[in-house]
Amino acid sequence: MEKVNKFIFVVGGVMSSVGKGVTSASIGKILQSKGYRVTNIKCDMYVNIDAGTIRPAEHGEVFVGEDGIEADQDLGNYERFTNQICVKDNYITTGQIYQEVIRRERNLEYEGEDVEVVPDVPKEIIRRIDACQNKNGSEITIVEFGGTVGEYQLLLFLEAARMMKSMRPNDVFFILVSYLPTPGLLGEQKSKPTQYAIRTLNSAGIMPDFILCRAEKPATDAIKNTISMVCSLPIERVISAPDVHSIYDVPVNFERENFGEVMLKALGLEARARDMREWTALSDKVSSLKENVKIGIVGKYFNFKSCKDTYISVIEAINHASWFNGRNPSMVWLDSEKYEEDPGKLKELDDVDGIIVPGGFGKRGTEGMVLAAEYARKNKIPYLGLCLGMQVMSIEFARNVCGLKGANSEELEPNTPHPVIHMMKGQKKNLEEHNYGATMRLGSYPCVIKDGTKSAIAYATKNVTERHRHRYEFNNGFRVLMEEKGLVFAGTNPETGLVEIIEADNHPFMVGVQFHPEFKSRPLTPHPLFRDFVKACAANQTGRV
Ligand code: GLN
Repeated sequence: MEKVNKFIFVVGGVMSSVGKGVTSASIGKILQSKGYRVTNIKCDMYVNIDAGTIRPAEHGEVFVGEDGIEADQDLGNYERFTNQICVKDNYITTGQIYQEVIRRERNLEYEGEDVEVVPDVPKEIIRRIDACQNKNGSEITIVEFGGTVGEYQLLLFLEAARMMKSMRPNDVFFILVSYLPTPGLLGEQKSKPTQYAIRTLNSAGIMPDFILCRAEKPATDAIKNTISMVCSLPIERVISAPDVHSIYDVPVNFERENFGEVMLKALGLEARARDMREWTALSDKVSSLKENVKIGIVGKYFNFKSCKDTYISVIEAINHASWFNGRNPSMVWLDSEKYEEDPGKLKELDDVDGIIVPGGFGKRGTEGMVLAAEYARKNKIPYLGLCLGMQVMSIEFARNVCGLKGANSEELEPNTPHPVIHMMKGQKKNLEEHNYGATMRLGSYPCVIKDGTKSAIAYATKNVTERHRHRYEFNNGFRVLMEEKGLVFAGTNPETGLVEIIEADNHPFMVGVQFHPEFKSRPLTPHPLFRDFVKACAANQTGRV
């Protein structure tokens, strides 16, 4: 039997931020539930090689893969929905494509031919997409293009997709995720912007095979009719994608429209399985939860428009853990800088059930985080520190329990008398040479868990691996002293001795981790540390009431 080798391109119409990432992840989930091996690719149009050097408040979270890829946050959605691990192959940028074309030209790999933007750039895009499918051993690859049709920088990617379609007409398909506005004045959905998006796609030589209609409400039959006429598609291929309670309802909603079967029919495939039971059960459970848990996120990348993007994996990990504990999470965004101006404001931490101090870079706001860590330790408020949050917890403990006045991280105060967090070996050279791209300690590393700790209870296993993204680490020169004073070193890298997890003793739950557990949390299998943190938060709420 010939191997199934299909490709689905997902492009956006009308405007950005309508949830193409969740849509692509949901398509992966549905096809996977029908028994096919899937993988997802994100193509970003920017010239950056990866997302590692982009400001988080600008572009959203940098998602870190097992192999250390610093990618667009959409890869996080792909992993959360399909549980397929994304690696470097799953992330393509214009920068990577040009870099490779130029490298090959310098290597004489074009054998003396002149190298043209078209077809050589699209050909390299196609090579990358095929390589990902082959390497992953997947049968259907869903390729999401960032941006919106009509944008200039999308053209070479659309051309690559068009070329693939012309070479393999039965294996390449297009989904346009479009938006149907409902102007307040009219109170009804309008399809004209979507019609224009379809025509723009047509002018790139592409006919969409499916139209997904993003809107507040389900698309009306009249709208579906109009759209199906404009793009000569049977009406069953025009799918409603209304706003939903939780992103995990999206695949369930698509299945209500029979999207999975319709897609398989178009692809010339038959369902090998039908299994969305656990997923549907979760969706039902979430909508019926009554009790709440309130988590404070003490961070600094809030511009209150995009903080949801900046901390998306943390937010999702809180969601998964809360649902597991039978709670509906509410999250409050606490800007650490205000505690520096007025420490009296720390009292607001009494109103949350627990706090998370997430990752971050640079000095701004970190003194406020240290104050929050102190408040959480003294008042027994559950605390989970992620990367910078673990470093802050070490600094607080060094200053206030061990009496090391002025203790700090070399990143935040280069001349600190007590560098409890110091720069990792090899990083100084990187910074001196302005070698910032992909030079942090990135990706998955092992960690051995100490018996009898909260982490040991959470993980219920001794050897774990977690994903990293940092240049600084705990300074082991302070370990003996801090251990004597009661800090628990609950996880260490077995090869280098690098401190991975610290815990405060005599505290319901105060854990700091040098890694980013949020990247490995899944809706059906929450991360053990988030799960036990939320459990402690729920207990704290009960205790206070
Ligand atoms: N800025 C810190 C470091 O580089 C923490 C990084 C993070 O929170 N991801 O070590």
